[in-house]
Amino acid sequence: MKIQLQNLTKKFPNRNKKAQGDVIAVDHFTYEIPDGKLIGLLGPSGCGKSTTLNLICGLEKPTEGQIFFGDRDVTKLPPEHRGVGMVFQNYALYPHLSVKQNILFPLENFKGEQKLSKSEMLERASQAAGLVQIEDLMDRKPSELSGGQQQRVAIARALVKMPHVLLLDEPLSNLDARLRLQTREEIRKIQRATQITTVFVTHDQEEAMSISDEIVVMKQGVVQQIGKPQEVYDDPVNLFVAKFLGTPPINIFHGKVQNGRLTIGKAAVLPVSGIPDQEVWAGVRPEGFLLQEDGPLSCSLNGVEVMGRDISIVSTHPDCENTLIRAIAGSENGVNTASETVRFALKPGKVFLFDKNNGERIR
Ligand code: ATP
Repeated sequence: MKIQLQNLTKKFPNRNKKAQGDVIAVDHFTYEIPDGKLIGLLGPSGCGKSTTLNLICGLEKPTEGQIFFGDRDVTKLPPEHRGVGMVFQNYALYPHLSVKQNILFPLENFKGEQKLSKSEMLERASQAAGLVQIEDLMDRKPSELSGGQQQRVAIARALVKMPHVLLLDEPLSNLDARLRLQTREEIRKIQRATQITTVFVTHDQEEAMSISDEIVVMKQGVVQQIGKPQEVYDDPVNLFVAKFLGTPPINIFHGKVQNGRLTIGKAAVLPVSGIPDQEVWAGVRPEGFLLQEDGPLSCSLNGVEVMGRDISIVSTHPDCENTLIRAIAGSENGVNTASETVRFALKPGKVFLFDKNNGERIR
């Protein structure tokens, strides 16, 4: 089911007595979430991700704007009538109930529609458990499960009502690195299998990029950019988005556009026709550097790390306040680690220019 957010706005009274006006947690958010897709809602702490989820599920009421599930306006509908499944960061399982009882709980205490018969409930619970592969854990208590298993129970409990919409709020943040990776792949698989329109909240850009059909990048309640992960990475609208996406992060230099050329330090590094002379932020993705003996950008070499397929070259640019540069190149590129300098050319498609004042993308 598609979800439409129209001008969705949520203001909270400001608890900080010195600050003026309300906190605008979500600011005129308009977006049509496509049917059956997984959307990653991404941004730093406090940018309004959880509030957006709470608005979609009905735990918060919008100050302005509307929410539609399909063509139905659900803005004023209480949570239990929305057909939404939610999974939170802390799995919030009932400790005294078995896994099976936890999964059955939403069906047995369902206020929304007509109650199912006992056998229908058991059938649904076993289907949901099958989806997340916990059938053989049904008689255990939550305390007898690993963190990853507990999170799967929480997902099964959200799926058992066969929701139209699944909302996941930082579902992986209590898991260790390995389980995080494994569980995120499982969530992706379950989402593909069920085709439930899903919104996944995270502040981890890599996580969002790896599993989302589309990502939404937010900052201080305002949506910055929406698109397929690769498209947003390759074509960020502003400095904030460019810096937020990518590991290692984008390299940012003080640059100047002069006579149709981008200059970093004293080196003219790239032709950039059609842009008036001005100071800019020049952003270069780590893979945007080309090792070249006569490359225009001469840097001091700090170190080379071999990472299997790639090498990571750490260097600084003396003309540029010794800005630390992280470049990634294929391991077939030899770098003389004894050398004190390394020279780069830049790949045009991997260099972005941003307005020095407001960070908007110029090129
Ligand atoms: P995090 O990643 O830290 O969970 P978030 O992106 O989910 O952050 P929200 O929890 O949605 O952000 O909060 C957005 C803003 O709204 C923050 O400035 C927060 O302090 C404020 N806020 C959230 N809930 C309330 C509330 N009930 N009362 C007052 N302010 C609130």
